[in-house]
Amino acid sequence: MVTFQCETKGCDHILLNSSKRYAYELAGFTCPKCHKTGSWKNYTGEIHPVVLAREDVRIVELKQKLLLALAERDRLKIEFDQACAERRNCELAYNALQNPDIPTIVSELKKIERKTNAALVAGQRHRDAEEAAAKLDSAIDDLGNRDAVNRDAGTAYRSAASVEAASQKNKLYIGNRQYVSQHRDKGPLKKFRILDVPNWSPGLNVAWVEGGISAKAHFKIKLDSTNQYANIPDTVLNKFKDVPAYDAEDFLALCKTDGKNSLLWFDKDGYNRPTWTALEIWCLLRKGYSFQFGDSKKDGKGRKIVLTPPV
Ligand SMILES: [Zn+2]
Repeated sequence: MVTFQCETKGCDHILLNSSKRYAYELAGFTCPKCHKTGSWKNYTGEIHPVVLAREDVRIVELKQKLLLALAERDRLKIEFDQACAERRNCELAYNALQNPDIPTIVSELKKIERKTNAALVAGQRHRDAEEAAAKLDSAIDDLGNRDAVNRDAGTAYRSAASVEAASQKNKLYIGNRQYVSQHRDKGPLKKFRILDVPNWSPGLNVAWVEGGISAKAHFKIKLDSTNQYANIPDTVLNKFKDVPAYDAEDFLALCKTDGKNSLLWFDKDGYNRPTWTALEIWCLLRKGYSFQFGDSKKDGKGRKIVLTPPV
């Protein structure tokens, strides 16, 4: 995921989520906005305005898809109910047979079998449709209430940018959301160092991180060694020790290969994507931040991990 910007005058389209990272891959890539091919330059500026704007578009698309998915789910429920009723009727008809001969019994049993299979298939299709609708619902949920998110993104940016004035340290905390939010109550100043807003979306999260970056804040990764989903495996941490200024793209690739079932990769409930924490770290690495290791009084040797800005 490298960020590029279209060089066509007046277009300036920003390419996010790009798997293309080499000049030869971009040379053949057409800009989705101005339709010119191959005019891309590296983009290192802030990305939260683009992410938020695309979320606004995305949620409209998702809501339309959800309406269709719900209609499909309801249609398949009716089909399933019908299939069950037909099967039941077949069974009743069979039970009501008076002294049937063998060929009739065989043919009626085959009919019941066919109807049973049809009901099983219809049931599975209905469950699949239900699952698809639930996934869309949860994707819509992830994007939050857009008016509130867009309003609070500015607040989050400013609060991260002014963390030093508010908390006496130019330091922010990232990590598993539930774990990090516990730090809100550990002293009057700590609440200023976490992202603490009632409305949330990935774009708002990026706005908060970029607010901190604009103030050259340090980002401390809060690790909970008692919970694998709030922790980073030692094998991965050792790679950051070896290469503190880890390449942002290599970092995401590493999250996928070595970060499964950890703070870095979300692969539960049918998902397969970087965690929001991994994307926060990606935002920092693409701005030249590097990993710094120290000893933590509470968590032990080498367990204090801070991402520090370039000097
Ligand atoms: Zn363009």
